[in-house]
Amino acid sequence: MEMLKAKIRDIPDFPQPGVLFKDITPLLGDAKAFGAAIELFRQRYGNRHVDYVVGVEARGLVIGAALANALGTGFIMVRKPGKLPAETLQATYQLEYGSDSLEIHLDAMTPGSQVVIVDDVLATGGTMTAVTELVATLKADIIEVAFLIELSFLNGRSQLKNHSLYSLIQY
Ligand code: 5GP
Repeated sequence: MEMLKAKIRDIPDFPQPGVLFKDITPLLGDAKAFGAAIELFRQRYGNRHVDYVVGVEARGLVIGAALANALGTGFIMVRKPGKLPAETLQATYQLEYGSDSLEIHLDAMTPGSQVVIVDDVLATGGTMTAVTELVATLKADIIEVAFLIELSFLNGRSQLKNHSLYSLIQY
């Protein structure tokens, strides 16, 4: 875990003043660290029946696709509005200032599919809550929501109480 933490750097005032952004690009760029992170997730889900890994734009797509491949499952993208080409379902969630939306293809999975949802960082939990709503509307079963990093001091976990939640690294 310390090896992974060493590859995550703090960027002050990104994307706006006052925010200390956890930058995972050095971790993704390091074969050993990226491989170790995916292997830890693989060990957690490798003995479960998983139909799909769902990944959240943007960095959740990178981690999610690698994990799906390691598990031998399909991969489903959740994207910002207007990016997915076929018919979509949309969920809107509140930001500190304003709101944002995410989309999933309506035909992405069949009811009863067993899914793990992955993102890079859990902050306030708004993003993942919206994703769980999309997946629930498609009537899939959420095995767990998983994060590379949990910013524990923001208590995003409290918004996701109805789901099993796992994070590799906590700050
Ligand atoms: P939340 O909705 O939980 O407040 O924010 C989580 C979303 O914002 C995730 O999709 C994540 O990618 C992004 N995010 C928020 N803070 C950070 C951060 O410090 N580092 C990175 N890499 N992503 C962040």
